[in-house]
Amino acid sequence: MNIQMVDLKRQYLKIKPEIDQAIQEVLNSTQFILGKKVTDFEKNAAEYLGVKYAIGVANGTDALQIAMMALGIGKDDEVITTPFTFVATTETIVMLGARPVYVDIDPATFNINPEKIREKITSRTKAILPVHLYGNPSEMDEILRLAKEYNLFVIEDSAQAFGAEYKNRKVCTFGDVACISFFPSKNLGCYGDGGMVVTNNEEIQQKVRMIASHGSKVRYVHEILGMNSRLDALQAAILNVKLKYIDEWNQKRNEFAKIYTEKLSSIKQVKTPETRNYVKHIFHQYTIRVENREELQKFLSTKNIPTAIHYPIPLHLQPAFRGFADEGSLPESELAAKQVLSLPMHPDLLEEEIDYITNSIKEFYS
Ligand SMILES: *Cc1c(COP(=O)(O)O)cnc(C)c1O
Repeated sequence: MNIQMVDLKRQYLKIKPEIDQAIQEVLNSTQFILGKKVTDFEKNAAEYLGVKYAIGVANGTDALQIAMMALGIGKDDEVITTPFTFVATTETIVMLGARPVYVDIDPATFNINPEKIREKITSRTKAILPVHLYGNPSEMDEILRLAKEYNLFVIEDSAQAFGAEYKNRKVCTFGDVACISFFPSKNLGCYGDGGMVVTNNEEIQQKVRMIASHGSKVRYVHEILGMNSRLDALQAAILNVKLKYIDEWNQKRNEFAKIYTEKLSSIKQVKTPETRNYVKHIFHQYTIRVENREELQKFLSTKNIPTAIHYPIPLHLQPAFRGFADEGSLPESELAAKQVLSLPMHPDLLEEEIDYITNSIKEFYS
């Protein structure tokens, strides 16, 4: 058995003719920067998500940075967010001279705990930045209510949640702005780096476009400070093909998650992910909590079962981000970091592989 955390080879082989043709079209056109493939994908992605504007950028990290720049977030501003996420979420806040203000997670969802946000709001707070971790939507109703009450922006980090839904509406449509990553291993991934900023706000979309293009609307006139961040035409061509399959692939992940949960639920040392009935979780990761994680991980690796830890160190304990919150002040995030284990999850898993994985976990705990 050749089990991968994410099997991009199996996926490519299933759609190879379409992908190869899309790439060939870009090569034939020599339109490598922007152009039709990019505008087509921006249009298709906006339509799929149900937003007015989608702007392709170079990666998900840039998407976050550009979104915050467009909202005018900068020196000494505070952005309320979660410490239990990929580094990019916090990195971009600090990069702009702003401060991440961490709110602990709800242990049931691994997402920011909305009940703990209010106590962290100050006169410097500019935005709330929830992350839909593992493809599981954050509690948007409560977050939007607080944002409205205190006049704050909401920025959705949807890097792991393309296609996920909260109360029958796609994530990315709730915030003032949402940020997407097309890193290859994401649910909708390209074959290199790629990202996107989406919004329903005309003014924000104009700013985002300008910032991503050296602060310029008219060539060689630079009105504001910008950067160079574009979605490659080749990546856009690949994404146009893959977008057609995203619902099918997310559905597969959901089915596999159900099978995992059924097979693991009898093991008392394992806690399977909770799914709330009003969200569509798209299982970017299938992440369990376990006892003796390191030993289990070693045991599984001797059986050629790859696993991963998302994430082993919460961001307030990272050397690069010391000073924003004390150790011990975000106990649920700190505990989760010690217990979580992500199992192989992708749309091309085989049921026999899931059997083998779950049986091996049973064997370890028996
Ligand atoms: C992947 C990811 C990002 C960054 O995306 P890149 O395209 O790798 O820059 C940001 N936030 C979260 C939660 C992510 O998982």
